[in-house]
Amino acid sequence: MTSLDAIVSLSKRRGFVFSGSEIYGGLANSWDFGPVGVELKHNIKSLWWKMFVHGRDDIVGIDASIMMNAKVWEASGHVANFSDPMVECKVCHERFRVDHFFPNKEFMAMEDDYLEQQRRLKEEIPCPSCQNREWDVPKKFNLLFPVYLGAAEGSKNRTYLRGETAQAMFVDFPLVQTVTAKSLPFGIAQIGKAFRNEVTPGNFIFRTREFEQMEIEYFFPEPKEEREWQKVFEYWRQEMYRWFHAVGIDTSKVHEIEIPDGERAHYSKRTIDFEFEFPFGQKELYGLAYRTNFDLRNHQTMSGKSMIYKDSETGEEYIPHVVEPTWGVERTALAVLCSAYHEEERNGQKRVVLRFKPYLAPYKVAVFPLLRNKPEIVEKAKTVYAMIKNYVHAVWDDRGNIGKRYFSQDEIGTPWCVTIDYETLENNTVTIRDRDTTEQERIAIDDLPSYVLSHLAVS
Ligand code: ATP
Repeated sequence: MTSLDAIVSLSKRRGFVFSGSEIYGGLANSWDFGPVGVELKHNIKSLWWKMFVHGRDDIVGIDASIMMNAKVWEASGHVANFSDPMVECKVCHERFRVDHFFPNKEFMAMEDDYLEQQRRLKEEIPCPSCQNREWDVPKKFNLLFPVYLGAAEGSKNRTYLRGETAQAMFVDFPLVQTVTAKSLPFGIAQIGKAFRNEVTPGNFIFRTREFEQMEIEYFFPEPKEEREWQKVFEYWRQEMYRWFHAVGIDTSKVHEIEIPDGERAHYSKRTIDFEFEFPFGQKELYGLAYRTNFDLRNHQTMSGKSMIYKDSETGEEYIPHVVEPTWGVERTALAVLCSAYHEEERNGQKRVVLRFKPYLAPYKVAVFPLLRNKPEIVEKAKTVYAMIKNYVHAVWDDRGNIGKRYFSQDEIGTPWCVTIDYETLENNTVTIRDRDTTEQERIAIDDLPSYVLSHLAVS
């Protein structure tokens, strides 16, 4: 099993992810994606958009504001329900999630009884940080980040940074349906930032207070029988696996967890969490929920605007139901990094290699002049570099020896390294070395773009 330390240190060393505001000592649990990390993240999002928006006719995208009318969050239930049970240690003042200390069932039995929670904590649970059992009374802590618009602070001009991207798809549903004239079933997709004032952020980029989501609200006719919504749900469960394969997440480490009655989010009639074996334990990677028409119904009540859909063929009128698959971008990046990370021995030498799917790799091609002090080789290499950059994102490297350059590109997952040598000057061929097999072949410069592009099809 790859250790989290190995991933964190590689991420920092090579510029995937480093801690935010570092020159000021950082800001706890904020992370910045560096030059190669941003490419990986961008490629993950593009793949998702390609698969679920461009790749099909029944889903369209939107890009909504992060700040929405506060009423959105009242109608959605987030103001009342979007909270974590939290307890503070009176000695060291560290805060913890109460539900993380007890098995699910036991916690659910005392969910609304804070004094009982305190009693059990004092009896059974020493503070993980200072080992005392001086627990305060637990309380619920709302995860929405309030923001105040304009100069004055007060409830009148208060709204929230969005806690999920999903609400915009509900609020915008009537407009999107009108402008696209789509008939049900159809979905609305969005990628964007969400914010949660998490009580226990941590585990690198796994749980942060600011993160990105990729979400789809897939609207379908009001089900007359259970099996109608179950069919839509099952379809999206399968789509999750299409995604796992395309993005290169090791499915032997993915586990479906059916969330039982009483433990689901307030809006859900069925939820499956897709958990992944991260180095720090098996944790939620994605979710799939049947949100019924809870959100559209509540927005209709709160706003007074109709959310009713009229079927043009049957003339039936109803508020559509929705299945929601949801993906975290950072958790995807982490699961992809964990799945791609390999340490291996080649010819007596240890190498670290990120076996990304080629279309996810930050750079597709690295171009090397065999020798940096031979002007004719450097000159030729520059023309090859300029040419290949017209097709794919590429990087130049003329430092150290070729072996070191290969090693360096393997660590960031570059699928192909192209070397320009003396033979290139004679016959316009280059060597191309494969990241995974480390094998090299000679090909004509003219064939380089088609060679690379033909290996970039999504698989
Ligand atoms: P958790 O139980 O881990 O708090 P959740 O069930 O609250 O997650 P959802 O509300 O279902 O998460 O959010 C959808 C997706 O957004 C998650 O599956 C995850 O990929 C991502 N996500 C949620 N919270 C965070 C966070 N704090 N940091 C990074 N990604 C997150």
